[in-house]
Amino acid sequence: MANYISEEEKERQAGFLSRIKKINDDFCKENGRKPLCNTETYGCQQNENDTERIRGILCEAGYDFCERAEDADLVIYNTCAVRENAEDKVYGRLGILRHIKESRPELVIGLCGCMVQQEHMAEKIRKVHNHVDLIFGTHALYKLPELLCEVLEKNQSVTSVENSDGSICEDLPILRDSHNKAWVSIMYGCNNFCSYCIVPYVRGRERSREPEKILSEIKDLVKSGVSEICLLGQNVNSYGKDLAETCDFSDLLHMVNELDGVKRIRFMTSHPKDFGDKLIKTMTECEKVCHQLHLPFQAGNNRVLSEMNRKYTKEEYLEKVERVKRAIPDIALSTDVIVGFPTETNEDFEDTLDVLRKVEFDTIFSFIYSRREGTPAAKMDFVLTNEEIHKNFDRLLEVQNEISKRKNDTYVGKTYSVLVDGTSKNNEQVLSGRTDTGKIVNFKGDKSLTGKYVDVKITEAHTWSLNGELAKTE
Ligand code: SF4
Repeated sequence: MANYISEEEKERQAGFLSRIKKINDDFCKENGRKPLCNTETYGCQQNENDTERIRGILCEAGYDFCERAEDADLVIYNTCAVRENAEDKVYGRLGILRHIKESRPELVIGLCGCMVQQEHMAEKIRKVHNHVDLIFGTHALYKLPELLCEVLEKNQSVTSVENSDGSICEDLPILRDSHNKAWVSIMYGCNNFCSYCIVPYVRGRERSREPEKILSEIKDLVKSGVSEICLLGQNVNSYGKDLAETCDFSDLLHMVNELDGVKRIRFMTSHPKDFGDKLIKTMTECEKVCHQLHLPFQAGNNRVLSEMNRKYTKEEYLEKVERVKRAIPDIALSTDVIVGFPTETNEDFEDTLDVLRKVEFDTIFSFIYSRREGTPAAKMDFVLTNEEIHKNFDRLLEVQNEISKRKNDTYVGKTYSVLVDGTSKNNEQVLSGRTDTGKIVNFKGDKSLTGKYVDVKITEAHTWSLNGELAKTE
């Protein structure tokens, strides 16, 4: 059973929140405006969802939000530890913040999330980047009011990164980014310990939220206009294993599918070792579950998979994909691939390409292996040179880009229901949305269609997106 943050502790945090609110009210009287906060998120959807909670807490504490750190009174970066380049970006940003703080010493700088949950990282930041006022790890998010209050009242830096298997804190305030779609965390942590991955060390053990809590959050979202829900967990197929009442992920999907107002359900991430026929059957039975599946295979070679501690073989993976395709012929498949795992040879890498060609994924998220201190793979020796790894990475993209384009070509001439996200990033005159299968569709239309489902006829396919024209509104 998961460990829950008690009502007494939540009340204690609410007390700190009121104290920050008082400080911010005084700030408002003095300056004629609310204090401004700038947040930035690195990494996965779980982090995005955590930032929405941080913003919820800060909003209740009397902060407004701004786009640029230069304009902010409080900056909070929610960091990622999965790859080195995400950490490098944070260090780059800290350099810029040092300059801003030199001219405005009252600026409060906070770092949170997976990167600082690693003790050696928190230590390094305390020593080298002593302009950071607040450091808190993934397990201390609910304590943000107390920690920030200490920084503001005592004008001293605070760190909270204690090691923990993790707990669940329900009913934290939340300020969501989108009004039509929402991420809903159904569980936290991971028990799998893939040999390259830092997540189990920074996010604790798997713990599932009670289904009632999840359903009540979704009902509230529907009331606020949300119609597309993405259920989040590091390994959603493990959902429910730690619950007192029997409820697995398939059961949960059925329950969400029953809710009025929910139109689309997505979920991520599935682990191939746990993904099975019951979930495939559920996907076919629940009409709101989108025909999209993210199933990370990481590498195609069985020896590499074993050294990664993935607990499935290439053949088992391919077989499961075949079963999904048979059950849901229009399924859009995506995956994660790591190129250059320490012991991977050029020959091993051919197996990865073979999986791409056999499965024909719609999209892949490919990464060059990044060494993570404290993981078993960090002690393994590399077989390939950096140059060879980059060459393989380029080959991977070349193979996949051709497949992605070919898959997208099959959409041309057909009409799909698209949930409109808003105007396209590159052109204000163009709307952008997604099909049930998760394809990005760009088309001309009025921005008042944002949040609506519209039928769009696909006229052109690119590698990463589709173009279309409005057929009719719902
Ligand atoms: S399943 Fe493996 S790769 Fe995914 S979060 Fe858990 S340990 Fe990391």
